[in-house]
Amino acid sequence: MGRVKGGRGYLYIDNRPSGGQLLEFNTLTCAHCNTVVVLNPERKRRREWCHKCNAYICDSVGCNAECNPIQQGVELALKYPELGQPFLPRGKNGEVLFDTQLRDKEKPWALGGLNNG
Ligand SMILES: [Zn+2]
Ligand SMILES: [Zn+2]
Repeated sequence: MGRVKGGRGYLYIDNRPSGGQLLEFNTLTCAHCNTVVVLNPERKRRREWCHKCNAYICDSVGCNAECNPIQQGVELALKYPELGQPFLPRGKNGEVLFDTQLRDKEKPWALGGLNNG
């Protein structure tokens, strides 16, 4: 099975039993902060895209300022569990909260799979 970049998904809300509507939306998962974004079909602005990850990213400032894929946080968390750094949570602007020197030390990242070498 291929790995789907950009985490496409689907949200289905059935309010019909309570007299409401059936709502269906497409969703995308931000490759940087892992937030699931419900796509507004009315949106006119273009959506953000990270060319390093080749994946969708959300509108948050932190996600657009730097390439910090969630996958990288997961790999760091596995590699440095003893440091107790906040590898996965993000600040309110989507910025990473851990010591980015750790990230920079580990570059380049084996993104897109662990079969790069
Ligand atoms: Zn994001
Ligand atoms: Zn990226």
